[in-house]
Amino acid sequence: MTRRATIDEMARWLSERDDFVILGHIFPDGDAAGSTLGLCHALRAVGKRAVVCLPEGVPNLYADLPGAGEIIPTGEKLPFEPRTAVSVDVSDRPRLGEAGIALFESCPDRVCIDHHSTNEGFGQMMLLDGEAAAVAEVIVDVIAAMGVALSRDMAHCLFVAISTDSGHFNYTNTRPQTFIAASKCAAAGIDIEAITSKLYRTRTRARTKLLGLVLAGLNTSEDGKLAWAFLTEDMLREAHALREDNEGVVNYLREIEGVQFAVLVEERGKQTKLSMRSTTAIDVAKEVACPLGGGGHACAAGATVDLPMEEALQRALALARAAL
Ligand code: 5GP
Ligand code: MN
Repeated sequence: MTRRATIDEMARWLSERDDFVILGHIFPDGDAAGSTLGLCHALRAVGKRAVVCLPEGVPNLYADLPGAGEIIPTGEKLPFEPRTAVSVDVSDRPRLGEAGIALFESCPDRVCIDHHSTNEGFGQMMLLDGEAAAVAEVIVDVIAAMGVALSRDMAHCLFVAISTDSGHFNYTNTRPQTFIAASKCAAAGIDIEAITSKLYRTRTRARTKLLGLVLAGLNTSEDGKLAWAFLTEDMLREAHALREDNEGVVNYLREIEGVQFAVLVEERGKQTKLSMRSTTAIDVAKEVACPLGGGGHACAAGATVDLPMEEALQRALALARAAL
């Protein structure tokens, strides 16, 4: 059983320990990269040894976050033997990846800090705020409760996390505390223009090309409420794109007028990854992702299934139709 912790309890627990490995989820996004790094900077600020591990290392989009260069791909050798594992932004144990699970379990002390309401908890203790737009919102509070002043580097990482997971303060998960946390980051003197330009107003050629290929194959249901498209490994090759260049593509489907459920169907070897978005009309995590063995949030969820793309798509569409 994983005990639920308050912010103060978690801050105290972290303060009493050392030799941290901070773990994020497979296919790390802005929240996973930014929140793990933000926490790592804070622990180091109070003299702790800490390192961030992300499956396959840091995605290119986040490679210039302060400290990103020191991120170790999960499974590779660490500079010290970790004793305390902190899982950040990981909704369930399998999302740590195989190497991540092994590393997590190898530490005598293990906790998770998260914001996925579907998280049932793993490790000894969990700090969960299912309403936080990004887990970074929670990390900002934990850092304050540890008595650590938010440095510019911490703020940079955490702002990127909050901004990306909240759709730059656009998604329904955006709440007053989201702005409060972002405001604390802004007060630490970060360059918001430079940060947001890199995130939202600059795109690699490969990413742009991939977007075109995916959107050229757009499909919608007769009633216009469902939208879907495929992202194949051939498209990645044609665009010279990386797996991570899919980020944000599904939003173009969701943004089509009248669409209430959108899914990007991605070929991943023999598996299929479903990246799903919805309006408030359906809880896409509960109604679609969870029945397929995945998880996520009410308006943004995903699942990775052992089915060919077309079959995976039909399952998702059937669930979405039933829920609408
Ligand atoms: P995305 O579609 O951007 O990959 O993911 C949206 C949300 O769905 C993420 O925040 C994540 O929590 C969840 N998610 C995505 N893929 C998976 C998956 O394969 N399994 C589970 N359990 N959750 C996923
Ligand atoms: Mn997150």
